[in-house]
This record gives sequence, C-alpha cells and structure tokens, in this order.
Amino acid sequence: MTRTTPPRPLDITGVFPELAGLARTAFRLHPVPGEPTVHDSSVGGPLLWPADEPWPEYEMAPIPHWEANALRDIHLRRALLARSSAPPHGPGEVLTEDEQETLRRINTGLDHESLPSGPQPMIPLAQLYARDVPGLAFPEGTDLLQVLWATTYVPSRDSSPVQLRWRRCAEVRDVLAAPPEPAYVAVVDFVPVPCVLHPEAVREFPPYHSLDEDLAARLLAWDEQRSGGTYWTDLSVAPGWKAGGWPTHFTFREPPEPDDDELRCPECGGPSDALLTVDSNEWDGSDSWIPLECAKGAERPPDQPYGNLWDPTQVSIGRGYSLQIYYCVGTPSHSPALIMQ
Ligand SMILES: [Zn+2]
Repeated sequence: MTRTTPPRPLDITGVFPELAGLARTAFRLHPVPGEPTVHDSSVGGPLLWPADEPWPEYEMAPIPHWEANALRDIHLRRALLARSSAPPHGPGEVLTEDEQETLRRINTGLDHESLPSGPQPMIPLAQLYARDVPGLAFPEGTDLLQVLWATTYVPSRDSSPVQLRWRRCAEVRDVLAAPPEPAYVAVVDFVPVPCVLHPEAVREFPPYHSLDEDLAARLLAWDEQRSGGTYWTDLSVAPGWKAGGWPTHFTFREPPEPDDDELRCPECGGPSDALLTVDSNEWDGSDSWIPLECAKGAERPPDQPYGNLWDPTQVSIGRGYSLQIYYCVGTPSHSPALIMQ
C-alpha cells in the first residue's frame, strides 16, 4: 500500500521564480496502524536497540492522578474501543460486562499515591531507516535514526524529554528483546498507536518565517488575493508526520527571531534544522494534501479498518498543534531543540 499526495494546485515557482532555489525534499511518513518489527521504519514501534546499551529514562514532573495510566492499559482501551465501534456494530454494542468494567477501571486512572517516584523509561516515538527516507541528513556512517520521548508535557525550551540515536544497523548484533516500560504514562495523547510507515518524498518551500521579509510580504499579499489554495495551506509545507523538509508554519504563537536561542542547539548553541514533525493530524484546513488513497469516495484502506484516517497515530500535541523536532546540524547526536508550533 502506498500513499500518493496529489499534485499541488499550481507550481508556485511559476509565480515566484525566486523560490525555486529554496525547494527541499520532505518525507511524509504516512503512518498506518500495524505491527512494525524492529527491522521496520515505524511510529511507536519496537526499536532495533543494542541489548547492552542503557535505555533512556526521564524524570517525570508531578501529574494529576486522573491522567496516569499504565502503558498496556492505554493500548487495551484503544483495542476495546476500536472493536466496539467497528462495523456493523454500534458504539459499545459488542463489549461484555467484563470488558466494560475494564474500560471503567482504565478511565479511572491509577491511584496517584501508588505511582513510583524517580526516572521512568522513555517510549519509542519513531524509527527511520535511511533506505526509507533517502536524502534525509543522516550523519556519515549511520543508517538508522531512533527517537524516544517521555510521555509528559514538553516545555518548549527543555530538550531533555526527547532523545535521538543515530546508528549503523550492522553494529547492532544482539537486539534488546524486552525494553523497559514506564510504570505510568502522564499524557495519554503522547502514546502513539504502533504504525508502519509509507514514506513519500514531496517538494516543500519555506514557511513565511524562514523567508526574507520582502518575499514573505509579497507571498502574503498574493495569498490574500486568492480564493483557492494559498501558499500557507497548499503550496509550502506538508502537514502531518514528516521527516526533513522545512519546519512547519507557526500557528498559535509568533516565530522566534532568527538569532533567538530557541532555534539553536540547546547543547552547543550551533544552528539547528527541521528533523521530525509530530503532528496531531495528517491533514487539516486544506483537502489538497489528502492522499489519493484516502480521498472521499476512495475505498477505505484494508490495512486501516478503524479509527480516523487523518489521525492514525492518535498522538495529539496541545490543542491540535504540531511538535517540531530540530536537530543540531554540527553534531546531530546533541539533544534536539523542541518547539510546539
Ligand atoms: Zn549542538
């Protein structure tokens, strides 16, 4: 199964030729719920992790008890809800009394007093093999990127809740069979449904904040005169989970100034660039990015019988925003910069 982004409504370089040199290739990841293995690129799937390497941990901030759930319970609740809403049944029709009791127990959450203190293991966010995203900026000698995160609210200036590992697959001989799991999850919306990926290369152009002021102003004026697709929504940056390309647009907040620390590596202060976008929706605001395979009238993909096609991972960032993960260009193993935008 592939995913195919429709052609852009128009070629923006025909209107603004100065954009031609600014095109970048991004990889829309097109996550689809499935059963990825350690040998697959994935979101929320198992990692090809060396058995003798410590698993990253994170000291969680105190949380209200109603948000704490065991990881297995989150997956169990999703499975029960998916089954109970699958055609031809109506919501709740097929759950037994025991299953409904299980749902009630999970919805109540863990007893706050019972939660252990101290650092908790992080969980896999994404794993990308270079063969699936050719051209992504892998450091020389590496062919696997792993991203882990802590299931807690991410302060925008705190990089530690996300960790990157760049590896050479051939160096991983014994794979860790049973990775540690956190005793509890603080934010259910940060737990991805395990997804296989269907990466697709698309051409992107810079968001307004990455353009010089004059060009950005002319593009904005051009957008305002149009009734159809705009530079913002249709012609610049792809929505949804993606690797590489340009950073996403800033939505609910102003972008930082170009020399602001926020856009620099939190470890060495060097320049950073877009690596991974974690998005709450695969498309939003404009239909032009809906893959042909998911368009209205298209048959529902057989590999995705339940859930929403625009929200396959069930990860939600804030109120439907995205999290941009920026890597250090000089030393990619440094902690990434994180901005909700
Ligand atoms: Zn750095």
